[in-house]
Amino acid sequence: MKKNLIIGIVILTAVLSVTALSAVAISHHINHENQTAESLSAESSAGHEETVNAAAENTVQSNTASHISEASKQESSEKEKMLIDENHCTVEGLDNILFDGNEHTLGISVIYQGEVLENGTDYDVSYSGTLMNPDRYTAEIIFKGDYEGTIKKDFYILPSGTEITDIKTKTGSIHIDFEPQENLSGYQIEYSKKDDFSESEIFDTESAEMSSAAIDVEKDNATYYLRIRTYLQKDINGETEKLYSEWSEPKSAELLQIAERDGLTYVDGIIIANKTYDLPSDYAPDVNEEAVIAFEKMAADAAEDGIDLTIVSGYRSYDLQNWLYHSYVEERGQENADKISARPGHSEHQTGLAFDINTTASSFAGTPEAIWLDENCYKYGFIVRYPEGKEDITGYSYEPWHIRYIGYPYSEKVYESGLTLEEYLGITSKYSE
Ligand SMILES: [Zn+2]
Repeated sequence: MKKNLIIGIVILTAVLSVTALSAVAISHHINHENQTAESLSAESSAGHEETVNAAAENTVQSNTASHISEASKQESSEKEKMLIDENHCTVEGLDNILFDGNEHTLGISVIYQGEVLENGTDYDVSYSGTLMNPDRYTAEIIFKGDYEGTIKKDFYILPSGTEITDIKTKTGSIHIDFEPQENLSGYQIEYSKKDDFSESEIFDTESAEMSSAAIDVEKDNATYYLRIRTYLQKDINGETEKLYSEWSEPKSAELLQIAERDGLTYVDGIIIANKTYDLPSDYAPDVNEEAVIAFEKMAADAAEDGIDLTIVSGYRSYDLQNWLYHSYVEERGQENADKISARPGHSEHQTGLAFDINTTASSFAGTPEAIWLDENCYKYGFIVRYPEGKEDITGYSYEPWHIRYIGYPYSEKVYESGLTLEEYLGITSKYSE
């Protein structure tokens, strides 16, 4: 029902009443004739109906034949229903819904020529399914009463989104953790160097069974912006559609930098000496005092557990490493020497931050001392630098005795990651020739 129509009727009725009363008064005073108020009222109403073009069905009823025919003529013209199509009608409230596990009911508004139509009187609405799970839905609005026609509108229940909970960067990659969601086909991740996500890269994961993802990027000193959303793949009318959630809050991540200062390579502030990154031949810092103090504290605590720890090799100069390496080469050839000994300039011992504990014999593996070191040295700022099974990454065979000081709590982060230093930082350890 059109609201202004109702208001129109009320105004018209009020006007008619006033006119009727005046007419009665006039007729009594001037004509002194015995006319009824009713017939005057009816005549007056007929006159007003012409000018106001009263569209109402229930105008004041006339008791004369001419007035009855007038009224019914107008009623029949009103019953010509208005045909509504999508182009002349606005439907509000059919926005996409985010899945939340609940069944939704929609409060829609159908607006036609500026009028809000009344659900149940002017139209009925039905939906293609229970509004609960992510899917495409169709609302069908069938007009009735003064209106006719049917319109259909599509909308979606979209899968629920997720948020990035943690970001870790390396030199050439970004690792994100996010809250896993259920009933999905996967996740979509977008990343860009621009905070408005222009010039972005975007990819969908193949699986939904995950709560983290790694993104390989260029090894530069860039800051990246990342966001994630979920998707659900649905077959809708024979076509595969991906329904996406809202985007997560964007997060920024700064790549770890490979910085070079005075011929030394630092990654995330950690000085690196491995097969890829070497030290200048004149770099001779001697043993690091902070590392020695940390070792002494560790050895004292180990002793309380009945574990005896001694440094058998600490700082080594470039020249000493040169002599050592070449003696290995002479003894067993370069290929074998490279598995167990660093070329001059590539040894961690030249940093003054690496120690060999108790022995350099492979029989050290599995001893109580080796196990204690493996489980506890991170508490003092050390890591076991060349773990078992990581030869291809570190470039060295398993050395349970070789520990490297990187400081606490950095050591704890690397230890808990279960990664080698190369993996943790995203760097290689390979000779260029
Ligand atoms: Zn060593």
